[in-house]
Amino acid sequence: KSGFISIIGRPNVGKSTFLNRVIGQKIAIMSDKPQTTRNKVQGVLTLESSQMIFIDTPGIHKPKHKLGDFMLKVAKNTLREVDVILFMVNATEPIGKGDEFIIDLLEKNETPIFLVINKIDQVHPDELIAIIESYKDKYDFAEIVPISALQGNNVERLLETIQTYL
Ligand code: GDP
Ligand code: MG
Repeated sequence: KSGFISIIGRPNVGKSTFLNRVIGQKIAIMSDKPQTTRNKVQGVLTLESSQMIFIDTPGIHKPKHKLGDFMLKVAKNTLREVDVILFMVNATEPIGKGDEFIIDLLEKNETPIFLVINKIDQVHPDELIAIIESYKDKYDFAEIVPISALQGNNVERLLETIQTYL
């Protein structure tokens, strides 16, 4: 099994921390799946039974900037080409304009989108439930996975869940 995964989300939600935790190597890609040149490989996780290739999604990381139609199209097309999208949000902050911008961009995407709620080490379980509820209405997420990228809580489980979609 192999597949492409894109992590999207506002700045500072923990995307790099997550990538740094999970990525073992940046070596040659064994996947035979087609990949367009505009998709930058951020790292590859090779496990016994699967390979996950994390790719960058151009354009979607700058919700503050006014994006042209072209960049929006590129971002949307990239999202269609991956196998799983991880939409990462910060458990310590209420849903904001930046998050809603990204949710709007997702529209009705054929690609399964996981809501990854990061930094759960910093919130009370009741707060986490409230955060989950606030996002649930916004989009029909394939999975909702709370994690702590920093401490590693639930990261294994997230990777296992991703594998079931490849
Ligand atoms: P990015 O902009 O989405 O790539 O976010 P970074 O990975 O650079 O993280 C932004 C800040 O959040 C850094 O100071 C991280 O150490 C911190 N951070 C990331 N993940 C967690 C987490 O799970 N728990 C806590 N407490 N802090 C985190
Ligand atoms: Mg980063």
